[in-house]
Amino acid sequence: MIYVIIMTSENHSEKESILRLRDNWEEAVAFRVTIIDDGNCRANHKVGQKFEFSWKSPEGICTESLVGMYPILHSMRVFGDMRELGSSERNVRVYNCPSREIKFKIKALYKCNICGSQLQVNQDGVQSLQLQCTKPEFPLRVCESCYSNYKEKRIEW
Ligand SMILES: [Zn+2]
Repeated sequence: MIYVIIMTSENHSEKESILRLRDNWEEAVAFRVTIIDDGNCRANHKVGQKFEFSWKSPEGICTESLVGMYPILHSMRVFGDMRELGSSERNVRVYNCPSREIKFKIKALYKCNICGSQLQVNQDGVQSLQLQCTKPEFPLRVCESCYSNYKEKRIEW
């Protein structure tokens, strides 16, 4: 036997009708970097090695390569289309290290700002719905379920 308790919204206070983003915030963009070709490397990178990160540099990655790939990471962070640089997918780019020894496959992962679930990317871009934070004002990229859960709420940082 399953009991379902349904809470009515009659007693909801003003506070409960506000979604506080600071308690839920998920970074919109993360990067998955995979080594797909290796060679003579002082950082000892090997094929198959993976790094996943957002704002903090991942431990063990070659610093020269991280600096070299940064313009790509930045472009992905602002939803740049890697096909403009010759990639076949808009969120994937291969980066060659300065010594031309190591190849890094960089994939941008786009996430719902509220729950962190991964958003799909297709030819038209990142598939998401939009909500608005009102204090301060900025747009949010969210998944379908967060959209329906929070579309009636006021959203503040
Ligand atoms: Zn979500």
